[in-house]
Amino acid sequence: MDCRKLGNTNFIGRITSIKDNIATAQHWISKKEEKLKPCAGCYQNNPKLNKARCTKRIKIDKTWKIMVDSQKRLKIDRDDLKILRREIRKREHNRVKSNRIMR
Ligand SMILES: [Zn+2]
Repeated sequence: MDCRKLGNTNFIGRITSIKDNIATAQHWISKKEEKLKPCAGCYQNNPKLNKARCTKRIKIDKTWKIMVDSQKRLKIDRDDLKILRREIRKREHNRVKSNRIMR
């Protein structure tokens, strides 16, 4: 089973490759209790990547591993997802602060 799903603040996807700390990820869509399914294409797609499915690149440190069961349902509920998003934002905020200190 593949657990290499990732999420950032508004994106759940499956990592297809990683290079130079940048992940290339296929966009997957989840609706409430339903199975995840690949996005056929939306505004998040990066046309430069020239993929058949909705795909974009994300910095690895902006991603978070999310567990998915064999039914392709997220092993995380909506509230946990909210907490996760808050944590990621906090992490980004802290990094901005430490960058300032280094300068
Ligand atoms: Zn999409």
